[in-house]
Amino acid sequence: MTLARLVGDELTVPCIDGTDRVYLGLDAGASTAAFESVAARVQEFLPWYSSVHRGAGRKSQVATQAYEDAREAMLEFAGRGDSDDVAIFCRNTTEAINILAYRLDVEPGDTIVTTVAEHHANLLPWQRLAHERGVTIRYVECDERGEFAAEDVAEAIETADRPRLLAITGATNVTGWMPPLAGIIDHAHRHGAEVLVDAAQLAPHRPLATSGAAAADYLAWSGHKMYAPFGTGVLIGPRRTFETGTPLLVGGGAVNLVDLDEVLWTDPPERDEAGSPNVLGAVALHAAVDEFARIGWDAIVAHEEALATRLRVGLRDLAGVRVLGEVPDRDDRDYLAVSSFVIGTVGSGSAGPLPHPLVAARLSAEHAIGVRHGCFCAHPYLVRLLGLSNEETARYRHDIVVGDRRNIPGAVRASVSISTTEADVDRFLDALDQVISGPEAPVRYQQDPTTGDYWPVP
Ligand code: PMP
Repeated sequence: MTLARLVGDELTVPCIDGTDRVYLGLDAGASTAAFESVAARVQEFLPWYSSVHRGAGRKSQVATQAYEDAREAMLEFAGRGDSDDVAIFCRNTTEAINILAYRLDVEPGDTIVTTVAEHHANLLPWQRLAHERGVTIRYVECDERGEFAAEDVAEAIETADRPRLLAITGATNVTGWMPPLAGIIDHAHRHGAEVLVDAAQLAPHRPLATSGAAAADYLAWSGHKMYAPFGTGVLIGPRRTFETGTPLLVGGGAVNLVDLDEVLWTDPPERDEAGSPNVLGAVALHAAVDEFARIGWDAIVAHEEALATRLRVGLRDLAGVRVLGEVPDRDDRDYLAVSSFVIGTVGSGSAGPLPHPLVAARLSAEHAIGVRHGCFCAHPYLVRLLGLSNEETARYRHDIVVGDRRNIPGAVRASVSISTTEADVDRFLDALDQVISGPEAPVRYQQDPTTGDYWPVP
């Protein structure tokens, strides 16, 4: 059963046996195709495309209204309809968190608490703040399953000098685990820390407004992971944070008045949206949010939970597969339908039987299945999940420095979208089984040492 159709769902691609097969994208954790309804809304809006907040013509008025309606829809989507929060449109989650890190009022000696399970987008902006503004960073460690307890986060906050912000993921992009946010956020607030939830993975799969993330002060997410791939993301936060100070990007649209030696910045949210806004992206995100409401979150969550279990159980049953963060007695409801795994080895080169880039290349070339492989922009987390020793990590660092990626550790990740079906998951599991236990690959694959990727040799 498909809950919604995405543009390109029927696309066929050539395989090395000379056949064309329907492409099966299992990389929704990276990016999703557009909802058909989103594409239709964008198409409908295109004749009205015009400058936002900058023109007196009818088209500019319509475009400005569409942009501001989309902003309202984002606040509603995050459960902030009646609040004084602002929704800032930006490019994606990465930009949203960079904006926040730039705009957050911090003093040297303040502490930012984050976790080792974060995507680089929710690590590097804070690391920079530590280097440039004397802020202390505390990392909450994870266990061998890639999880941390609410108590560990609580302890990091309680024992920190001046806890300023907890920056935490809503769902990891590696294991799909959703930390127990409600209690964690409550605890942070009681100790005077604000909370940012990186909702890049959560927003497309769970209703933000009623999830544990709803209590966070700041939320960030990306349109291209939620069926609106038109270049827009969102940062939500309290108006007061953005009312004073200089924005990260400076330029037209962010100002009330400019003289050669003076600038009067405008009010939030426009203050943090210098330059011509991406109205198409905003319209697309608005349409995506409407589509989620039309389908209904109960149906979406039930569908994705069923797929998550099918994927996880199916992988567990395949010989030689180790799912990262796997616990036999886990409650699948704490996980998105995202699974990362290794086959017999953690390295990518000749050390083990099935290197992760080769698995991904074979699934693509022989089965028309698109998955992701590597470290998923979460290097510290992968090091822990793979259980790499200090020596292995040092060797891997050295290889990167010298530009040799043949043996870089990593994993393969399968992640589903709203249009994925149970038959799709079965097709993937069958294909993986063939790659692992089937006959030899029908062609030779050659590795590019500079990227680590494998390519079929014709
Ligand atoms: N956080 C998480 C958990 C993610 O999965 C991603 C994207 N993989 C990001 C942040 C960054 O998102 P974007 O690339 O859209 O900025």
